[in-house]
Parts: sequence; structure tokens; C-alpha cells
Amino acid sequence: MDPLPHVIIFPFPAQGHVNSMLKLAHLLSLSNFDVTFLVTVDTHDRLLNHTDVLSRFGTGFHLQALPHGISMDGVNTRDGISMLYYSLNTIAKPFLREFIPNSSVTCLIVDGILSMAADVAEEINLPIIYFRTVSASSFWSYFCIPELIQAGELPLKENAKDLTLTKVKGMEDFLRGRDLPSFCQASDLTNPDFRIVMTDTRQTPRARGLILNTFEDLEGPILSQIRMVCLNVYTIGAVHAHLKAKLATKSTSSNSLWQEDESCMSWLDTQPPKSVIYVSFGSVAGLTKEELLEFWYGLVNSEQKFLWVMRPDLIIGHERKDEILVELEQGTKARGYMADWVPHEKVLAHRAIGGFLTHSGWNSTLESIVEGVPMICWPRFADQQVNSRFVGEVWKMGLDIKDTCDRDIIAISIRALMEKRNGEFSQRTEHMASLAKKAVNEGGSSYINLDRLIQDIRSMIPPHKHT
Ligand code: UDP
Repeated sequence: MDPLPHVIIFPFPAQGHVNSMLKLAHLLSLSNFDVTFLVTVDTHDRLLNHTDVLSRFGTGFHLQALPHGISMDGVNTRDGISMLYYSLNTIAKPFLREFIPNSSVTCLIVDGILSMAADVAEEINLPIIYFRTVSASSFWSYFCIPELIQAGELPLKENAKDLTLTKVKGMEDFLRGRDLPSFCQASDLTNPDFRIVMTDTRQTPRARGLILNTFEDLEGPILSQIRMVCLNVYTIGAVHAHLKAKLATKSTSSNSLWQEDESCMSWLDTQPPKSVIYVSFGSVAGLTKEELLEFWYGLVNSEQKFLWVMRPDLIIGHERKDEILVELEQGTKARGYMADWVPHEKVLAHRAIGGFLTHSGWNSTLESIVEGVPMICWPRFADQQVNSRFVGEVWKMGLDIKDTCDRDIIAISIRALMEKRNGEFSQRTEHMASLAKKAVNEGGSSYINLDRLIQDIRSMIPPHKHT
């Protein structure tokens, strides 16, 4: 009998990364792979507490915690990200050096912003494949940073945010300074977030391949650019839709790191079709109290129904959101519903949802596209600025209101999305949703690429392991 491939999958320890890489783990285990999924202690405990992660896989799945001391605390601050990378280098790297040789591993699938793991794989001659959990477009704009610097387009000059950039090939017609990933917009290019993402992205070609959670019909022109520098790209997305197709199910198990509040589903059940705008800023982005109030007034003044994910840590500097929420709740009882954390995929799939006010994280964007839900984009940081430009300007599936936070603009945009321009936005998003479904079903591009990935990893099993 042929030996089973064993892959170690190592995501960056944030919700969006863990979610999509766990979906890949599931897809591979359906093809009889043994999978070890490597996470921080905190993520390990959260997955055990809030998901069915152990029972959904067969015996070939192993959830492995890294040693203590690696934490996401404060990761949205300059010092926090440096601390995280310092601990990954000083704790995770030596751990991998010991752990991998004792685990009979075929291949390491590692988040493309963890190049320290690639160092270890190279030391011991183990094949490595990168998984970038962001869009192809934002990956490509990170990749082109050295060219932008060389052309003098970075750092961004005073008042140059609205000028189009010339050095991100394939985006010359529409990518402005303000659409670059937030890290690239810093005036100080020694910023650690910026250096890490730039250096790690540029190292991508050292891996045997690059997995992207996207599909050819969505990002084809940019993928052609990427393939000129990364020869082996596997587009297998949208991974959540891919998993649903393989399991022939309407919804997959949750990978939430927080408890999901299912009560919002009963509330949605009582609402008319396409009458509710869903509001979520993802798992990391925060709002100031002033921004929160602009969104709240904007939502109320739009006179639309809304479901708003109000994470307990959403409001920057307010560990307890309660004092603000008393005021909010009184104003929203008539039309709104708030929850700490929701079953996001199920919410977007609900017939009552007609639009999505989002921070444009890549998982949220894909989840919305797959359900054919148009978006208002209010990007906060990292790749979100690029994603929102594509939604607003390239795919025309909604409105990009980046760099504004004004109750009138928010209310007008919501009315446009839900009423006045709903037809045009919905038509384009629904068309892309049908292409997304085609991609992950038999014969589709993502389906074929996943098969190729599986065959390629199988072929990495050393000959002496075959009996
Ligand atoms: N999510 C969720 N429940 C919520 C809000 C978000 O399960 O109430 C999930 C969502 O499905 C997505 C992830 O959290 O997979 C957020 O990832 P994304 O890339 O959109 O943004 P990030 O959190 O990385 O900024």
C-alpha cells in the first residue's frame, strides 16, 4: 500500500489565516492526507473550546500547540508585531527544528509571511509550499514594493495619495497611493510591519509552490503577472466554497476563535428577503469611539435594518463597551440587532441579507462574493485597501468609501447599496458567485488545481517510503 502523505500546516496565528488554512487542512484530509496543524497555545485552546475541530477530521488529523510565549496580544501595534515575530523566531523556529525531523513529514505548508519556517525546511531539505491567505492582488502589490521604491513612488509623497502608481504591473490604470496596503503607506519605510511583509513576500519564489485562496475568473490578469515570478501557483479558492462542494453540504463547521451567537439567525429569519445590511469589521480591526458613532448614526439614518458584529474589543481604548452600548442600543432597537461574534458564513448566506458593510478582509470579501452579496468597503489596514479598490473599481460589486468616516456618506452609501443601485451591484456579484461555484466543482479551475496540488505532494514522498 502507498504511504499516506503527511503535511504540517502552519498558519499565522490570526483568525482569517487560521480559518482558511484549516479549510485547506480539511480538503487535504478528505484525500487521505495526515495533517498536523500548528497553532499557538491560545488558538489551540480556542479551537477546542469553540469548534468541533477534532471530531470533524479522521484520526489522521493532529492539532499541535507551539510552546508557550507566542501571542497575538497587541499585534495591531508597532511593538506588538515586532514582539510576535521575535517570539516566532526565538520559540517557534527552534521548536520546528526538533519537531519536524521526528514527524515523518512529506511537506510543510506554511503561511507566506512566516519565512522563518522556510529557513528550517531548507536546513533539513524538506519541501515547502507557501499559502498566502490574502488576495492575489494584494500579494502582488506587496511583491512590487521594491520597484515602487526604485521608481520613487514610495514612500508616498505629500498629497500624492490620489495619483495612480506606475509600478504595480496590471494595476497601472486604477491603483492609487491610497489603495496600497496600509503598511506601504507609511512615510517611514523602516516600519517593522512593512519590512516583514516586503521581505517575506519577495522570498515567495524559494518555495516549491504558492497556494492562493482565489479563483482564476476573479483575479486572472493579476495571476498572470504573479506567474511570471512564481512559476507554480495553485489557485484553489474560495476554499470555504471548495470544502462545501466536496462535502456536498450547505454550510461547513465553524473555525471561530470566539463563541458564535446563533440568536442572530432567528432574528434574520423574521426579516424580509434582502432587507438587512450586515456590518462586520473582522477579527482584528478596531474603531475609535468617534468612528463608531459615525457608523451608528449612518446606519440609523439610512433607515435600513442592520445586523452589526460588535466584538467586545472593537472600540479602541474601551475595554468595556457597555457604557457606549447603552446609548447605541436605545437608538437601534427598532431596526438593528447586535452580536459579539456571529456565524459569518451562515449570515452572509441568509436570504434576509442584502448588503455587507465590511472592512474588506480577504476572507470576508470572498465569503460575500460567493453568496452574491454586494459590499460597502471601509478598509482599515494591511491588504484591505487593495481589496476594497478591486470591489469598487474593478469588479464594481459595491462602493469603496476608504479614508472617509462621515455619517452622511455612510447613510447615502447604505441607501445606494440596498436600494438605488442594488440591481447593478447584485447582478455583478451574483454573476461572480456563479463563477466561484463553477471554479470549485468538478472540472473547474480551483478543483483542477487542488487535484494537482494533491498529486504534487504525493510525488514528494521519498521512494524508500513506498513498499
Ligand atoms: N468571522 C466570523 N464571525 C464574525 C466575524 C468574522 O466567523 O462575527 C470570520 C469571517 O468568516 C472571516 C474571519 O472571521 O473568515 C475574518 O477574516 P478576514 O480576512 O475577513 O478579516 P481579518 O479578521 O483577518 O481582518
